[in-house]
Amino acid sequence: MTEYARVRLKKGKEKRVLLGHPWVYRTDVEVLRGPADPGDVVLLENHRGKPLALGYYNPNSVIAVRVLTQNPKERIDRDFFLRRIQQALELRLKLFREATTNAFRVVFAEADLLPGLIVDRFASLLVVQFLTLGMERRRGDIVEVLEDLLHPGGIYERSDVEVRKKEGLEECVGWILPGGSPEVVIKENNLAFFVDVARGQKTGYFLDQRENRLSLRRYVQGARVLDCFSYTGGFAIHAAAFGAKEVLGLDISESAVALARENARLNRLEDRVRFEVADVFEALRELLKKGERFDLVVLDPPAFVKGKEALEGALRGYKDINLLAMKLLVPSGILVTCSCSYHFSEELFLEVLQEASQDAGRRLQILERRGQAQDHPVLVGYPESRYLKCFILRVL
Ligand code: SAH
Repeated sequence: MTEYARVRLKKGKEKRVLLGHPWVYRTDVEVLRGPADPGDVVLLENHRGKPLALGYYNPNSVIAVRVLTQNPKERIDRDFFLRRIQQALELRLKLFREATTNAFRVVFAEADLLPGLIVDRFASLLVVQFLTLGMERRRGDIVEVLEDLLHPGGIYERSDVEVRKKEGLEECVGWILPGGSPEVVIKENNLAFFVDVARGQKTGYFLDQRENRLSLRRYVQGARVLDCFSYTGGFAIHAAAFGAKEVLGLDISESAVALARENARLNRLEDRVRFEVADVFEALRELLKKGERFDLVVLDPPAFVKGKEALEGALRGYKDINLLAMKLLVPSGILVTCSCSYHFSEELFLEVLQEASQDAGRRLQILERRGQAQDHPVLVGYPESRYLKCFILRVL
């Protein structure tokens, strides 16, 4: 058995680990015994020296250890990553057997017991993100395993994320396995979407909203729909395909709007969906001033709350758009409102909605309380894995 350096926890700090949380903060560590380079696997032990888990170590990050396995005897080698990725893939193959969708998250980092690794599949292409030093150091094995298991037509890296800085890593973008054009057409819920894995936001497309987009089906028949923060048209195009008579999508990004228009044409829905470049905060006010009304409004803003700080301003932002959207809805109109900020809890979100409804002079019924798509599993013991909230409300 390999002799790993040992990271001893302070007294009382083992409980979280035993309950399944994969993060050990630097401040929870009593001492490191034995030599360990940043990124090395270490053995985590309680304050009495009892082995608890294996994880990888980064003394330069606030999160000093990320747990890979709660079995201290497991070997962390290429085969370990093969088993883990296989286990993740098994779920997705079950979920997407019907072939109405060929784009999904293959690996959702900590929630798939692979801290710091994101793998998305877009038709024949894979997009990967190595978010931590520990994963970065294992990229060779991981890429090999992905090739063996999925035989992708190309692997593109999108490690251009802020969190890498906290790990002492540079951003890294480009082909790992050359795959020709970075623009692919994917199928989602039997609709087609262009995804640009090189220039798109995050890994190119927001897969976590797939099931929420599908849930529009019951509410949009003959409806006039407003899709705010429409990006490349996910919600808008679903709405039109499900029978909305008129859909307007708004996004501040010109390239996103351009691709959204192409997506409307791709699905032959351009007669019913239009997209405009606009700042949603301003556009909602203007629409209201003009006396426009909608049967259904979607709000899917970017994460306003990035950390525990800056909550105040973010709350105002959420309240503002939700209040305006409520005012724009016809009586009994439907509001589909989302937040992808983990630090903005569901309870807090509801409070904000309540305040907004009070100011708007409208009552709210919760029709659906939704989260992220199933290929973004929520790991019990790791609350950070449930980040996306989506309420479907009737606004009376
Ligand atoms: N609903 C989309 C995903 C939205 S991601 C989908 O289903 O795919 C958030 C989007 O908000 C991004 O496309 C970003 O360009 C846009 N955005 C950010 N700030 C904005 C603002 N003030 N007004 C309009 N769009 C904004």
